[in-house]
Amino acid sequence: MSSSETLAPRALGILERLVAFDTTSHLSNLALIEWVEAYLADHGVASRRVPSPDGLKSNLMATIGPAAEGGVVLSGHTDVVPVEGQPWDTDPFKLTEKADGRIYGRGTCDMKGFLALALAAVPDLAARPLGKPVHLAFSYDEEVGCLGAPDMIRAIAAELPRPAMVVVGEPSNMEAVCGHKGIATFRVTVRGHEAHSSQTQLGISAVMEAVRLMASLSALAERLERQADPASPFTPKHATLTIGQVHGGTAVNILARECVFLFDLRCPPGMDPEAVLADFFAEASAADAAMKARFPQAGVEIARRSNTPAFAPETDGAAEALARRLAGDNGPRRVVGYAAEAGQFQQAGFSTVICGPGSIDQAHQPNEYVERSQMERGAAFMARLVDWASADG
Ligand SMILES: [Zn+2]
Repeated sequence: MSSSETLAPRALGILERLVAFDTTSHLSNLALIEWVEAYLADHGVASRRVPSPDGLKSNLMATIGPAAEGGVVLSGHTDVVPVEGQPWDTDPFKLTEKADGRIYGRGTCDMKGFLALALAAVPDLAARPLGKPVHLAFSYDEEVGCLGAPDMIRAIAAELPRPAMVVVGEPSNMEAVCGHKGIATFRVTVRGHEAHSSQTQLGISAVMEAVRLMASLSALAERLERQADPASPFTPKHATLTIGQVHGGTAVNILARECVFLFDLRCPPGMDPEAVLADFFAEASAADAAMKARFPQAGVEIARRSNTPAFAPETDGAAEALARRLAGDNGPRRVVGYAAEAGQFQQAGFSTVICGPGSIDQAHQPNEYVERSQMERGAAFMARLVDWASADG
């Protein structure tokens, strides 16, 4: 038997190391990756990088146990959201446990806590013959649109004997979560033609054109709300569309040369964001043509920034069944409002579940913390996973 009593303190020691690496998404994560590589090598586990195109960041994959089909992938992201402008009471990159049983630090719950638990299981996994492989899959750039994982998921699908399932350790209070919405984000750039604001016949205001387009998105958002599927398990039930940022114009009396706005569309599983936006795209392209007819440099350009697929509850999902067994979770089926890499793994054909320590309520917040009791539940999960993967398990 592997013991969660030894696994929990080991995980906290690892968490302290992981939190100390500032892996805010815009920075390199390579120092953390090197540390993990060395840790794995110390336990005789080989690992392989799947680097970012610019080489400044990397995913990391490793397999413990037999090169055989089946087994499980433990997946988590190494990046964290920024601390800038947040009022922290402690050093966000120094793990700090307080008397209330809360362990503070950036990434403690989202989601270095899970990475630490997975790594803490490695000595126990490496010390005994395994009947099924346990794969580690650590990504970069999750927090900026799940950008790093797709290359690694392709590598897992192409290079490994097919794993049976994937556990994504996003914070879920160590309960099994079996669905999330997808997120597609877009940047719309409207270029006008500057002129004195009294001479509207001599120019095009990019802001005025952008307002028209934003009004149709606003109408679309209302339509999506009215079209909500009453059976949807999500809160809110419908697809949501919001414009999060607008920048445009230089002065009140100048027809604006440029206006840029960003919007995100979050669709429940089964809804295609491109189809939802088809009419809007057609409208934007008509506006683009009309503007170019007056001024060739004017127009509307739409760029997709990210597209994270939705994660749909599975019928008889193997991953959900395993996570429930290891977590001792007999509760109702749950879905969450945030998006993660679970949809990407599922899209690649893997049975997937989300299960990790901590609450999403603490994620991205100042004074982010994970409760010690959550890390202990996570350690018990990993100890049972070691037994499950063992040849005699
Ligand atoms: Zn996360």
